[in-house]
Amino acid sequence: MRFSELGLHEAVQKAVAEQGYTDPTPIQAAAIPVVLEGGDVIGIAQTGTGKTAAFTLPLLTRLAKGRAAAGAVRALVLAPTRELALQIEENVRAYSRHLPLRVAVVFGGVGERPQITALRQGCDLLVATPGRLLDLASQGHGDFRDLEVLVLDEADRMLDMGFLPSIRRIVRALPRDRQTLMFSATLSKEIEQLTSEFQRSPRLVQVGRRSNPAETVEQAFYECPHNLKQGLLAHLLRQPGWDSVLVFSRTKHGADRICRRLARDGTEALAIHANRSQSQRQRALESFRSGKVRVLVATDIASRGIDVDGITHVVNFDFPDQLEDYVHRIGRTGRAQATGNSVTFLTSEDLGELRKLERLVGKPLPKPCRAPGFDYEAATKEAFAAPAPDAAPRPHNRGPGHDRRQREARPQAPRPGAWHGGRREGGGPGQPGSGGQGRPGPGGRRSWGRNRG
Ligand code: AMP
Repeated sequence: MRFSELGLHEAVQKAVAEQGYTDPTPIQAAAIPVVLEGGDVIGIAQTGTGKTAAFTLPLLTRLAKGRAAAGAVRALVLAPTRELALQIEENVRAYSRHLPLRVAVVFGGVGERPQITALRQGCDLLVATPGRLLDLASQGHGDFRDLEVLVLDEADRMLDMGFLPSIRRIVRALPRDRQTLMFSATLSKEIEQLTSEFQRSPRLVQVGRRSNPAETVEQAFYECPHNLKQGLLAHLLRQPGWDSVLVFSRTKHGADRICRRLARDGTEALAIHANRSQSQRQRALESFRSGKVRVLVATDIASRGIDVDGITHVVNFDFPDQLEDYVHRIGRTGRAQATGNSVTFLTSEDLGELRKLERLVGKPLPKPCRAPGFDYEAATKEAFAAPAPDAAPRPHNRGPGHDRRQREARPQAPRPGAWHGGRREGGGPGQPGSGGQGRPGPGGRRSWGRNRG
């Protein structure tokens, strides 16, 4: 199958060829003709499979026929995070470069002025995060009465981040007679529910099995008590071929701590999470993308939209809070046709989760093992000898929830088959979503009303 056989606008085909794409990926080959027919589509595809182009290319083909009037929005793409919104906008600009279309992006954490100006001019295609869009629309910016197409990208993640009430309010203000496309990495009951609420007889386009991690990623699971994680990461980073490494931390503070400790070992790493300003996040992403910095440490929320080709390794320093995040995380390597590697550190308490993960992906995962070449005993002694200076102060009688910190401050020797360390440091998907975009208001209102209670 070639791009020329899909019925895309010539200008779009030209731009795609300039991107160096020769053939459509499976999700593109499956989704593009269906989207072009004009009906609603629910697309299930892992990250890195080319799903952005799968909806963007037919969308631009449709939009090529008209022009937005001043103030009007013709197509709206909702994305969970500003990183993803920016990424989509970048792709849309590349694919629409030979078309006279106006493209804009709005997201929180930056000034509203330029976004308002863009809305006033009119947008053929607007990419937005839900919180900022509601803010601007409730001030009267953007006319959505003639909207033709709505796209919900990473719908599963938007649900996880609590955007459902915001999305409902946005959708209520849109015309009923529209095309609605929904993309998600997984097809859960919640997504099916969303489909019945927002779509009309959608066609399902699915590539790969449900919740199946990217087939191209080689996965490993290493036993590792909490107090040895940092040493194990440093060990792995010394191995050949670890050229571009994305490390996942469960919390924002954890991400900063990993960076600080790597810096002490002489490895520069940057963190990307919701406490960082938009420009800090962009700079970190750019340094990582250009190869100036080899290690990027991210939380799950901030990682959405990290579209960096050539990530050689994903490290799950902490096991994900939401099992489905595992799929998203490892999908950051092995993007498009490249192969990648993922390594997951497992404490003894993560073991039960691993079994659940196997059930979710529907196939056996590699057995957890000790990391090859890593001297657990020596690392344990080292951890004893040099307690981490930035370990949290030992709490006094504050209940079992604080055990993990105590263990971190007082390293213990690992016993075979019983690794140390608790889980759940708090934070996770409940952390303030991506710089305050997620401000779910009460549903049920028909207008964009500003007073959301
Ligand atoms: P996505 O799943 O949309 O995040 O895309 C993952 C990566 O695949 C991005 O870097 C795209 O630029 C790239 N890509 C998208 N479509 C194609 C294609 N047909 N051929 C090669 N690479 C592609």
